[in-house]
Amino acid sequence: MQITTETPIELLKGITPERARVLRDAFGMGKVQDLLDFYPIRYIDKTRIFTVSELHNSQNIEVQLKGKIREVKEVGEGRNKRLSAKFYDGTGMLNLVWFKYPKWLESNIPIDREVIVFGKINVFNQLFSMPHPEIETNTAADAERHLLPVYPSSEKLTKRGLNQKFFRNIIFYLLQTPLLAGENLPSDLTEHFQLLDRRTAWVNIHFPLSESYQKAAEARIKFEEAFFLQLSYGLKKQQHKATVAGHPFTVIGDYFHGFYHTHLPFELTNAQKRVLKEIREDMKKPVQMNRLLQGDVGSGKTIVALLCMLLAMDNNFQSCLIAPTEILAQQHYAGLSELLKPMGIHVRLLTGSSTAKERRDIHDQLQSGELPILIGTHAVLEETVRFKNLGLAIIDEQHRFGVAQRARLWAKNATAPHILLMTATPIPRTLAMSFYSDLDVSVIDELPANRKTIVTAHRREKDRLSVYHFVQEELQKGRQAYFVYPLIEESEVLDYRNLMEGYGQLTDFFKNQNISVLHGRMTTEEKEQSMQHFKDGKTQIMVATTVIEVGVNVPNASVMVIESAERFGLSQLHQLRGRVGRGGEQSYCILMSSDKLSADSRKRLRTMVETTDGFKISEVDMELRGPGDILGTQQSGAINFKKLNLLQDGKIIKAAKRSVDKILEADPHLNHPKNQVIKHFYLKHYRQRHQWSRIS
Ligand code: ADP
Ligand code: MG
Repeated sequence: MQITTETPIELLKGITPERARVLRDAFGMGKVQDLLDFYPIRYIDKTRIFTVSELHNSQNIEVQLKGKIREVKEVGEGRNKRLSAKFYDGTGMLNLVWFKYPKWLESNIPIDREVIVFGKINVFNQLFSMPHPEIETNTAADAERHLLPVYPSSEKLTKRGLNQKFFRNIIFYLLQTPLLAGENLPSDLTEHFQLLDRRTAWVNIHFPLSESYQKAAEARIKFEEAFFLQLSYGLKKQQHKATVAGHPFTVIGDYFHGFYHTHLPFELTNAQKRVLKEIREDMKKPVQMNRLLQGDVGSGKTIVALLCMLLAMDNNFQSCLIAPTEILAQQHYAGLSELLKPMGIHVRLLTGSSTAKERRDIHDQLQSGELPILIGTHAVLEETVRFKNLGLAIIDEQHRFGVAQRARLWAKNATAPHILLMTATPIPRTLAMSFYSDLDVSVIDELPANRKTIVTAHRREKDRLSVYHFVQEELQKGRQAYFVYPLIEESEVLDYRNLMEGYGQLTDFFKNQNISVLHGRMTTEEKEQSMQHFKDGKTQIMVATTVIEVGVNVPNASVMVIESAERFGLSQLHQLRGRVGRGGEQSYCILMSSDKLSADSRKRLRTMVETTDGFKISEVDMELRGPGDILGTQQSGAINFKKLNLLQDGKIIKAAKRSVDKILEADPHLNHPKNQVIKHFYLKHYRQRHQWSRIS
């Protein structure tokens, strides 16, 4: 039989249907390729031979020793019966022992011949022993000593004969056959990065000749994974550019200039200016823009969004700004209407609680083109909401929206509107590079100049009184404070009780202050009113659940107290902290927690205290939770890399991306003969595999 990488594993010698089933259940293995991709979790160093005299600290370590075996005999009775032998290497003695063994073993152990024994060392009463050693009689074959692979296994597998020896043998056998697929990277690339060829990499990931070969094999496999991931994004992006027409915004007119020169309330930061330019350049082209605007909390994304909407107006297009919560939409509406009032620009708000009459009005005004800017929640995405000519759709806190929801925007026009996604959820750079590489990305990496770093502290229940005193002092300086309670989705009742207990405590202590409350049980109107009071300074304290997490902007608030902080995730804590430090005052974030903390909670809180850099925080978050969790299950399917680590392999990902960009620029359709290997491999293995973060 000619074995290929596609051959089902049950056709291989040694793999019974039963074993095949176990392998499928445990590792999803189906064909030969899956066995080749079954990489060792670690290696045993067989390049070194130990002596018995060296073993003092070797408990539980796998070693090999060269010497002679003597005195093989059965000892013990009944269940204690075992086979025992003595091993000498001239420096000392070691017991070899077998607890379970076939009858023939006793007479087959080579006696008084030079052998190499290999196994784990046990130490008991100063005596060394090695249970179930592997014994090798060919001691001269030093050339064959290498790093021995150890594969993921379990007792269940071992019981069915799927032990280390099984995996080693079958993979070794497969690597000897001529089945291996050829190169999938062009030779100038492998040469440039000094990568092993594919076959050598496979051999050395399983049976490395040396540690440096093993590292080189790993590097090659990682590069390959990064390369084809980037290629799939690159091709998708290219295809999009070639096929999806957009409205070219060629005019920078009176709306934009008028606002910029007379109504802008502050000087833009350099980062804001830069991203604005990037967006402008992009919207100028007759191709639909798909851009992600990343910027840490408080970096000033809203004003950039506003200027983009004015640009749409200059080009006679409508635009909309969509936010994930009603409070946030409401706040954008209030803020933007005020900024646009002097220019006489009409803005409206559409949310789930808009009345039927309001909706009718808005629908009419959108369709007649009378309304240039609409702000709202998911309600805007409903099919009944139609525009005369929607040219730009901006989605704030885009991670809160599903891909399908966003896709509805496309249906609103014959020509798709430009799309600007905004996010403050810090995404590790390497992750962004991999997952948003089919989007163009702009980053606001600078906070407005007047900001002071927020001081963060971790406090426990016993410190509560002094925390209250501290907050009191801040309030007396005219500042405001938030107290935030966790929201347990399964138990709204419990949440409410926690919050109300906290509220009671606070009213007892802060007798002379006014306190607002905000939680999920209130009506939209009540929430708005509560928020408004706090904004207007009528109340000094806001007690809330995480409703206020996203986007809320009250620059006079300078203290954020997070109750039961250990129950929040890192990115949530970072978002919450971002609610303060929005004005010029020194701001504080106090993380209250119980005394007993898990290791993860402790690390989260420590990270918050140590840094305010959203990107650093996101990296720790990814370390703790894994990338799948951060991107949401939707996209986790795309990150089943065998070797590539999105967090650690930034350099490799960058190099792969640069290579892909260069190749696609010179040969967009991969028609050049030297690129055939890439094209062939890509079409076969990658085309359908990845999901896209872009709206499509
Ligand atoms: P985010 O990026 O988190 O959405 P916002 O757009 O809400 O941030 O801006 C945060 C605060 O910073 C707002 O009060 C806003 O008016 C203010 N702001 C934005 N840009 C600047 C700037 N260039 N200089 C001073 N303040 C600014
Ligand atoms: Mg915002």
